[in-house]
Amino acid sequence: MRKVKFPKELIPELEERYSRYWWKDDEELDYNDIVADPFKNLIFTILSQNTSSSNTRRAYVSLKRKYQINPAVLSRADPKELSQVIRTGGLQNIKAERIVQVSRLIMENYGGDLRKVLSFPKEKVREELKKLKGVGDKTADVLLSSIFGQREYFVVDTHMMRIAKRLGIVDEGASYEEVQSALKDFLPLDVGGDRLAGLFWLLAKYTCDAKKPKCQECLLKGLCRYSRGRGS
Ligand code: SF4
Repeated sequence: MRKVKFPKELIPELEERYSRYWWKDDEELDYNDIVADPFKNLIFTILSQNTSSSNTRRAYVSLKRKYQINPAVLSRADPKELSQVIRTGGLQNIKAERIVQVSRLIMENYGGDLRKVLSFPKEKVREELKKLKGVGDKTADVLLSSIFGQREYFVVDTHMMRIAKRLGIVDEGASYEEVQSALKDFLPLDVGGDRLAGLFWLLAKYTCDAKKPKCQECLLKGLCRYSRGRGS
């Protein structure tokens, strides 16, 4: 495991290269509304599992057209009907089941108000969220980071997992928590904050491609173990 740091002086270049990929909001999606409402954020994150951002957007907008996005309504939805509405996001049967079940649990355990979970002591809140079906480490951290920021709850998905291993800042078999901790050490989040975490994620997705990483054009090639030959 290597102790390297993302050079702060690369932040402007990172911004210049990747800001064009930044999530584009629009009236129909209303991303600000999603981020401001923990339940909508949770549903959006479930819809984003194993699919692209454009498919997530389509599935969410389709859901929004048909249902009010709150636990009271979605807990009573018919999973088969719901799966048809969100089918553009893929894995629609599994996601529809998750959405209905998680909505029921929020109704039963928290009186329909997910904010109640988020008001628990910080050390308990993540564990409480993970009791909800379909909520794993990543989904819990997406929710928590939208409130407390990525410095506290850094989100690790497949892109972050892959780039951390290629950079060599974690071992191949590293756990979610080990990757999370290594990336929090690697990135100067005190300077760049959530914007830096987002831009770095775009680098991981678009340049550090799973099948064909574009190492020659990568900002990080000078410090990346993978680009210099594995293990070197
Ligand atoms: S140099 Fe290559 S492997 Fe390393 S982070 Fe960049 S794209 Fe990924």
